[in-house]
Amino acid sequence: MIGGGFGGLEAARSLARAAVRVTLLDARNHHLFQPLLYQVATAGLSPGDIAEPIRHIVRRLKNVRVVLGRAERIDRAARQVVLAGGASPLTYDYLVVATGVINSWFGKEQEWAEHAPGLKSVEEALEIRRRVLMAYEHAELEEDPARRQAWLTFVVVGGGPTGVELAGALAELSRNTLAGNFRSIDPREARVILCEGGDRILRAFSEQLSGQALRSLEQLGVDVRFGSYAAEVNGQGLTLGDERIDARTILWAAGVKGGPLLATLETEQDRMGRVRVAPDLSLPADPRVFVIGDAAAVRQGEDDFVPGVAPAAMQMGRHAGEQIQRALAGQPPQPFSYLDKGSMATIGRSQAIAALPGGLELRGLLAWLAWLAVHIMFLIGFRNRILVLIQWMWAYMTFQRGARLITNEGEPRAD
Ligand SMILES: Cc1cc2nc3c(=O)[nH]c(=O)nc-3n(C[C@H](O)[C@H](O)[C@H](O)COP(=O)(O)OP(=O)(O)OC[C@H]3O[C@@H](n4cnc5c(N)ncnc54)[C@H](O)[C@@H]3O)c2cc1C
Repeated sequence: MIGGGFGGLEAARSLARAAVRVTLLDARNHHLFQPLLYQVATAGLSPGDIAEPIRHIVRRLKNVRVVLGRAERIDRAARQVVLAGGASPLTYDYLVVATGVINSWFGKEQEWAEHAPGLKSVEEALEIRRRVLMAYEHAELEEDPARRQAWLTFVVVGGGPTGVELAGALAELSRNTLAGNFRSIDPREARVILCEGGDRILRAFSEQLSGQALRSLEQLGVDVRFGSYAAEVNGQGLTLGDERIDARTILWAAGVKGGPLLATLETEQDRMGRVRVAPDLSLPADPRVFVIGDAAAVRQGEDDFVPGVAPAAMQMGRHAGEQIQRALAGQPPQPFSYLDKGSMATIGRSQAIAALPGGLELRGLLAWLAWLAVHIMFLIGFRNRILVLIQWMWAYMTFQRGARLITNEGEPRAD
C-alpha cells in the first residue's frame, strides 16, 4: 500500500481480517485531514489538530506494518517498490497505489510555485500562515501607501472549494480577528481577491448554490473576478489578463496533477497525470496493481469521472481491499461503483452550501452546521474531534483564531 491518506488507510483497514501481510508506506509519518488544511493556513487550527500519526491509527491492525519512506519508482516486472535514499526495495504480491495528487502550476512550477504556494501539506499550510501574518507586520511598518497596499492585498487563484474556503477565511481574518490589533494600519482595509478562470465559482455545485456562495463571499468583502487567468506571477504581484495587481501574498488553488511516481507505472495517464484504471481499479495490463483515490482517473458514465474527494478515495480503498481478497479466493473481479453522498463547501465562519443526494440543497447556517458535523465526525482521532470542536466554539463566540503564530521566519523579505 503506498500512501496513508484516505484511500490507503481504508484499503489497509479492509484487509485487517484477511490472511495477508500489509505494508503501509508513506513519505510522511502522519495522515492529514486535508479538508481542514485551510484552517491551519489561516491560523484557525494547529497542524496537530488535523493530523494523526499513521502508526497510531493502525496500531490495532496487527497485520499492518508501517514504513516511513518515499516511493521513488515502481518496478512492475520485478514487483518491487523502489524507495528514495537507497533503502531496500519493498516486494509485493499486490500493490495499491494511493499517493493522491500534487499542486500544479500548469507548467509554470519553476517560475510561480515560489511566489504562489499551494495548499496540500502541513508545510505549505504553515508557509501560507507565515506569509499572511507577516504581510500585516510588513504593512504596519511600511510608510509608502502603494507598498503598504501591496502588503495588504491577498490574491487567491482558483474558485474551487479550496480557493473559496481560503478567501472566506482570509476575509474574516482581516475584518474580525485582526481588527484593532495594529496601530498604523487598519487590517479591515485589506483586499482579498479571488480569481476564477471560468464564469462561476464552485462549478461542481448547481448554479443556485454557487450563486449563493458568491453572495456570501461578497458579503465578507471578497472581490471575486471571473474569466481571469493568471498570466504572470512574481514576488510583487500578478497579471490577470491585461490588469496588473500589486500583491505580496498570492495563494494557488487552481490545479492539481498526479505525482511523478505514477509515470513509473508505465501505463496510460490522463491529461492531469492521473492513472486510467480498469473498472475494478486495477491497471488494464496488470491485475495485481490497483490505483485508487485522487491518483486514479475512474470513469463514471460517458465522459465524467469520479471526483477527487475523500469519500470517493475511501470507497475505492475498500473496493481495492475487497478485490485483493477476491483474487486470493480465486473469484473474478468486480467493477467499482461510486456512491455519491453529497458535497459541501464552507464560506467563512457560519455560511456553507451543501448538495445532498436526491437533489436536496442546503445553504446558510444550516448547511454550515451540517458541514461542521461531517468534518468533525470524519476527523481521525477522538482527541482531535474534541479539540477542533472546542476551538471552533471559541472562535465562533470571540472571532479569535487560536494559532496566530509566526514561525519559520528567517530574514524579512527584501522589497
Ligand atoms: C485543501 C484541500 C481541501 C479539501 N477539502 C475536501 C473536502 O472538504 N471534502 C472532501 O471530500 N475532500 C476534500 N479534499 C480532497 C481530499 O482531501 C482528497 O480527495 C483525498 O485526500 C484523497 O485521498 P487519497 O488517499 O487519494 O490521497 P491523500 O489523502 O492525498 O494521501 C496521499 C498520501 O500518499 C503519500 N504519498 C504521496 N506520494 C508518496 C510517495 N511517493 N511515497 C510515499 N508516500 C507518498 C502522502 O504523503 C499522503 O499521505 C481537499 C483537498 C485539499 C488539498
